[in-house]
Amino acid sequence: MTILLLADHDGQTLNDATAHALTAASEMGASVHILVAGENIKPVAQEAAELSGVEKILMADDPAFAHCLAESIAELLVRLSADYGAIVAPATSIGKDILPRVAAKRDVMQLSDVTRVISADTFERPIYAGNAIETVQSTDALKVVTIRCSAFAVTPRGSNLSSIETVSVPFTVGKATFESEELTKSDRPELTSARVVVSGGRGLGSAEAFHKVLDPLAGCLHAAIGASRAAVDANYASNDLQVGQTGKIVAPDLYIAVGISGAIQHLAGMKDSKVIVAINKDPDAPIFQVADFGIVGDLFTVVPELAHALG
Ligand code: FAD
Repeated sequence: MTILLLADHDGQTLNDATAHALTAASEMGASVHILVAGENIKPVAQEAAELSGVEKILMADDPAFAHCLAESIAELLVRLSADYGAIVAPATSIGKDILPRVAAKRDVMQLSDVTRVISADTFERPIYAGNAIETVQSTDALKVVTIRCSAFAVTPRGSNLSSIETVSVPFTVGKATFESEELTKSDRPELTSARVVVSGGRGLGSAEAFHKVLDPLAGCLHAAIGASRAAVDANYASNDLQVGQTGKIVAPDLYIAVGISGAIQHLAGMKDSKVIVAINKDPDAPIFQVADFGIVGDLFTVVPELAHALG
């Protein structure tokens, strides 16, 4: 079976999510092609060509594909899909935006957020906020699959470059047009791919304290900052930092939860972290049930002391 993997990128560089999803795609089929769609996208296609185990890169370079608008890229995937047994994308905001349209237009089921590939048509995926794992088999001729990146290692870059083939499909821009975007700029690592995440919850008490307490600790650990939904709802942190069932799913080497109680919706987003450290003044807080190390104490004392000791 040949698989078409949709590359995730920002128009300039390839997102690591693509290399995670490639690992899953390679487990599904003998041959994987990567579609890189965008405008002036050759540098990204060249980056994708360095990934090992890819048969070829399809490059669709057209203003219609700029800014990864779901309407045009889904249409492109539908047109290409006749030649493939599966369309795969990482379960990032781009993959989650585009693939359901492909599934609907091809009238097949979507397999979302796959965490394990059992065979080319059978997969595991979490349900009930990660409290149960479902095994799903699809009998559709075309599988449409999004991959939970934290469940698969990255495919490394190889020594041989894959060939890049230009796809030219006559295209008119659809009903949706790009107006503007507001991007958060940060020197910190990206939340979903960071090796260390320091997350804050309602216990921080204010936006000012959130940054005053967490920034120094995150700084000395080169960590990304995350937040619970309660902290986001109270405007302590922006909503792109939310970790959990309705936020981002992370599985870093080290996750430090500060003033977070450990509600199941939060755990759904971080419980696969390799080492979990919880700092909470309540010894009965549920977060301690999943923590490898716990400090019962006042975060306003413990976190600065920890940052001081590490710095
Ligand atoms: P709280 O539960 O209020 O906990 C605050 C903690 O801080 C307490 O344990 C307290 O002991 C501790 N604390 C307070 N002061 C100090 C101090 N000085 N020192 C040390 N510790 C202190 N939540 C998410 O996080 N992510 C999601 O994606 C998400 N999705 C949801 C989806 C649905 C459908 C629903 C219904 C809920 C969702 N939630 C989500 C909300 C979730 O149920 C919890 O309400 C939320 O996670 C609580 O956040 P918190 O732990 O920061 O706050």
